[in-house]
Amino acid sequence: MSKTIAVIPGDGIGPEIMDATIRCLDALDCGLVYDYVEAGMVALDKLGDLLPEATVDAIAKHKVALKGPLTTPIGGGFTSINVTLRRKFDLYANVRPAISFPGTKARYENIDIITVRENTEGAYLAEGQTLSEDGQVAQSIIRNTRKGSERIVRYAFEMARSKGRKKITAVHKANIMKTSSGLFLNVAREVAKEYADIEFNEMIVDNTCMQLVMNPYQFDVIVTTNLFGDILSDLCAGLVGGLGLAPGANIGAEAAIFEAVHGSAPDIAGQKKANPCALLLAAADMLDHLDMVAKGTRLRNAIRETIDARDRVTPDLGGKGTTDTFADALVERI
Ligand code: NAD
Repeated sequence: MSKTIAVIPGDGIGPEIMDATIRCLDALDCGLVYDYVEAGMVALDKLGDLLPEATVDAIAKHKVALKGPLTTPIGGGFTSINVTLRRKFDLYANVRPAISFPGTKARYENIDIITVRENTEGAYLAEGQTLSEDGQVAQSIIRNTRKGSERIVRYAFEMARSKGRKKITAVHKANIMKTSSGLFLNVAREVAKEYADIEFNEMIVDNTCMQLVMNPYQFDVIVTTNLFGDILSDLCAGLVGGLGLAPGANIGAEAAIFEAVHGSAPDIAGQKKANPCALLLAAADMLDHLDMVAKGTRLRNAIRETIDARDRVTPDLGGKGTTDTFADALVERI
């Protein structure tokens, strides 16, 4: 039976890595049908709208989207389309695995940490950012809710259980941000009591950064609020060799969007130097989500073998290959 997914190539290196990813999905013979839609700068140029209705409709209809990176102007300009999509579809769980791949230049081997980040509230509320008229005072509101905290912590425990994970660390700053981070921590402690089969511990965010660098093997699954999760998941990506291998899933009750953690990499866009693996790993997570776990595993194995053999890999992995030759090598192994 075929399944249609929305495909948003994105901008910058997005279209290059999306082409490579679709080639691999086709080689896996998953029976996927692709509904191509646009968002961000490309959509603005082509259709006069950063987030066209057709894109929103396609995600709502198919419930699953594979998305390339979208450029967001820094310190002004339009609100991130990524953030808008997460809010619009209430994609409350941002799941970011950091897994070591043999053959990559990284500080550590055998890392396997999943960060589960709350994706809809915390410090990232667009309406919570204000600047006084004279430009002298900027304020950002942090809003955590019991409902938002409970569903993300519960998601992390359920995910841990389904993936056979052993331990969850709730990361917070409740010693200083006693209300917002305190609420999250209290809810995490309550929910943890319902999952006696999974070890639970809690850690303050600054200490977590140090512990991740000193001894990352103590971590299995991290659950945390929006801002801390954003930062910690990049730190975890750094432990396994950088953003080129870091996928992210944005999951809600009604829809899910799978993407690379990295951005549009304008410095290498159009040069075919981009490593497609982060988006490919996101596609593998998407296949798991679509109950095609064996296909997801095949894709991950092909990535693992290709990187291990350093076969036609991109410069960020120490190779001389291009995005396309990397995809050739992957397709041969699938
Ligand atoms: P970036 O992730 O685009 O790039 C950071 C560095 O990593 C660059 O040197 C880049 O060349 C390199 N890099 C990134 N992906 C790579 C890949 N697949 N292969 C090889 N090298 C890779 O981060 P940035 O420069 O801070 O952001 C650029 C733009 O992307 C910004 O507009 C930002 O808002 C946007 N962004 C979008 C998303 C998203 O769509 N989910 C996520 C992060 C950033």
